[in-house]
Amino acid sequence: MPNTEILVIGGAGYVGSHFVLHALKQGFSVQVWDNLSTGHRSALKDVRFFEGDLNDRGEFQEHLAGNRYHTIFHFAASCLVGESVSNPAKYYENNVLAAFNMLEAMRRTNHDRVVFSSTCSVYGLPDKLPIREDHAKNPISPYGKTKLAIEWMLEDYGAAYDIRWAALRYFNAAGCEPDDGLGEDHDPETHLIPNVVRHALGLDPKLVIFGNDYPTPDGTCIRDYIHVTDLAEAHVAAMRKLEEVSQIRLNLGTGRGLSNLQVVEGVSRACGRKLGPVFGPRRPGDPPELVADPGEAFRTLQWHPHRSDLDRIVAEVLRWMSDHPGGYSGPP
Ligand code: UDP
Repeated sequence: MPNTEILVIGGAGYVGSHFVLHALKQGFSVQVWDNLSTGHRSALKDVRFFEGDLNDRGEFQEHLAGNRYHTIFHFAASCLVGESVSNPAKYYENNVLAAFNMLEAMRRTNHDRVVFSSTCSVYGLPDKLPIREDHAKNPISPYGKTKLAIEWMLEDYGAAYDIRWAALRYFNAAGCEPDDGLGEDHDPETHLIPNVVRHALGLDPKLVIFGNDYPTPDGTCIRDYIHVTDLAEAHVAAMRKLEEVSQIRLNLGTGRGLSNLQVVEGVSRACGRKLGPVFGPRRPGDPPELVADPGEAFRTLQWHPHRSDLDRIVAEVLRWMSDHPGGYSGPP
């Protein structure tokens, strides 16, 4: 499929920009649509870029009408569990309403393929681990609910209007591509690995681990970290698979869980210095353990994550953050 024209919505964000890099390396012709609310223009090179918002449906529909994309990749979303609890309106607007606008514009311009970034938050508190795709969906945060609502829209639009779709349920996206100038830069940073690394580099005086009384071996939460470029590869594989099947729902994880303290130990190892986190209260909305059963994704996509080793992820994040202590907008 080289030279295939694709549109990446949210391509300036953390996962989106790594997908863009990977897709360019695969020879796709890539265009990016992003409102730059959280993304970074400087994370994108060699692509046609359109600054726009899906919630301006007229503008987006006009854009689609003037182009013919083989597949649309949708990465643009608000994605902080805690914020979604205090400000659900933002999540229904930026996630549900925006995805509705995208699907409407697609249907009116005869665009019929979409690969959508979903999340393991659609499962809520799992009663069986590792989590399979057929696990009950009981999201406990507005964030998870908005992603599940979009999966339902995809199902219904897919059935009624012949739109082929993939919903890829990410576990914890991690790592970066420092050789290509890509890192993770959120403001504020809320994710564990970048926060531990920031602390290790002295950019943050304090490292707080939220909760050490969970029912896990060391009392801290367990997550399944998957490298962003492994995610990117799975997106390309899903696009190819949509040639054969019309709907895909898959977990993207490694099947291995790491506790928050194991992550801290990983960063201590990498920087050769013992880090001293403090324990704070649990963070609302955090399930104790989220680990994927990725078997279905491995079989369906003929894909396997091979960059998701913690030591590799930590080394990359340390490198990018040492080189970019102020993130994308700081001095080079
Ligand atoms: N976490 C933490 N301190 C931080 C950031 C995160 O203890 O500064 C914990 C968080 O409570 C959760 C785990 O690290 O148990 C992963 O959180 P993250 O925000 O990275 O991803 P999430 O699982 O929420 O998508």
